[in-house]
Amino acid sequence: MSISPAEAPDLEALGAAIRGDVIAPGDPGYDAARQAWNLIADQHPAFVVQAESTDDVAAVVRFAREHGLRVAPQATGHGAASMGDLGGTILLRTSRMTAVSIDPGTRIAHVQSGTPWNAVVPAAAEHGLAALHGFSGTVGVAGYTLAGGLGWLARWKGLASNHVVALEVVTADGDVLRVDADHEPDLFWALRGGGGDHAIVTALELELVELTTVYAGALLWPIEQASAVAHAWLQWTRTVPETLTSDIKLVRLPPLPQIPEPLRGRSLVMIGLAFAGDAAQGEALVAPLRAVAEPYLDMVGELPAAALAAIAGDPVDPGPARGDGILLSDLDAAGIDAFVDVAGPDADTPLLQLELRHLGGALDVSSPDHGALDTVDAGFVLYGVGMAMSPQMDAAVETSLAHALERMAPWSADRTLLSFAEGQPGMRRSFPPAVADRLVALKRRYDPENRIVANHVSD
Ligand SMILES: Cc1cc2nc3c(=O)[nH]c(=O)nc-3n(C[C@H](O)[C@H](O)[C@H](O)COP(=O)(O)OP(=O)(O)OC[C@H]3O[C@@H](n4cnc5c(N)ncnc54)[C@H](O)[C@@H]3O)c2cc1C
Repeated sequence: MSISPAEAPDLEALGAAIRGDVIAPGDPGYDAARQAWNLIADQHPAFVVQAESTDDVAAVVRFAREHGLRVAPQATGHGAASMGDLGGTILLRTSRMTAVSIDPGTRIAHVQSGTPWNAVVPAAAEHGLAALHGFSGTVGVAGYTLAGGLGWLARWKGLASNHVVALEVVTADGDVLRVDADHEPDLFWALRGGGGDHAIVTALELELVELTTVYAGALLWPIEQASAVAHAWLQWTRTVPETLTSDIKLVRLPPLPQIPEPLRGRSLVMIGLAFAGDAAQGEALVAPLRAVAEPYLDMVGELPAAALAAIAGDPVDPGPARGDGILLSDLDAAGIDAFVDVAGPDADTPLLQLELRHLGGALDVSSPDHGALDTVDAGFVLYGVGMAMSPQMDAAVETSLAHALERMAPWSADRTLLSFAEGQPGMRRSFPPAVADRLVALKRRYDPENRIVANHVSD
């Protein structure tokens, strides 16, 4: 599964054959075109193509085949930290392919593969519909959904990948196909949760849910309250309905001007939550959390469902972030103590935040209609991240992440999720062995020359 380099490619010919742009090293726009949202990914591809259409993508794949090159599709670069070396690889940016249309009758969104969630959410909201997006609206629909996609409605509706109706793809041969349950069902299965390793997706058809308002937002306390709040949160997660998804974060916000004043430079414990139900019921559900201690900030209330793409307070602008995560099978009081030890008030840590996300509910429900990521057999996700503004800071964050994952290992599910396992290359730890074997076999069938480069490798 290797590609032998051939003669120097004629980039002018490729440029003339497509609507988009070809940007080579030395061209004025090369540095901007190769830059990912996550700035720790210093990508040096053979050249970059800014594709504008499915035909462009197919032309690029055929060109790559003729010239012994590989192709790495990328929308935003949120997942670029785990990309390998891009030597001999075309970086195929899809970020100009952002057409979105909503069919209110079938409740299906048709989305081109370079679209960020922020473009889908308001379009769906116009029809009283909501998408199964994640915590940040700036994340791309394609990378998020192909890797599973765990959002604020996850305990109610499950993974985003299991709500894909059909995909338009360009295969490693350069053919354009529509894949769904009846057409190329194996490829359809692999792409729904297996990452983007088996074909290049040019458009997605996604089921939406009817939802106009939620009871949602964030509660924040000084980090000194971390232990009391986190213990109470764990007990509370045992009681909440599937229509409520929540997380808890221990955060250390830097004193940066773009962070609003009440949060700037502060260390806090923060619970984020989304309840897909009415406000009175939501208020009753949240009452035990408010009773733990007077919150420093209480931003939970009735919101339009479209606001869910912003309530986590994730950074919007590109930055150098080093993160990693694992699944936890379950947690007990000792697990919460370990979590607070690692990033609570007494910890000396460079981590910007350490998060626990509550799973279960619909994520536990298996179906023969699901894709490669059928269920998430775990109680919680643990994910930590720090800013790596310099090599020294990067090394300190990496050490701290390794410490956090090791400290929480007694509760580990020995499995992780592709989207959260940035420091763990390969995909074997994200799937049961039989699923991983099937993904590898399908990679050999659909991409025998290993033409397509994903941020996680089917090995
Ligand atoms: C701030 C932030 C918040 C996040 N929140 C969540 C969350 O709440 N829930 C969650 O599940 N994940 C979350 N993630 C993880 C995120 O889902 C992954 O990083 C995802 O890969 C990002 O997709 P992207 O398209 O934006 O990134 P990109 O880096 O552009 O793409 C990532 C990978 O997806 C594949 N890919 C992208 N486009 C295509 C395509 N057209 N065809 C085939 N493969 C393709 C490629 O393998 C690519 O390397 C978050 C990440 C960040 C940085």
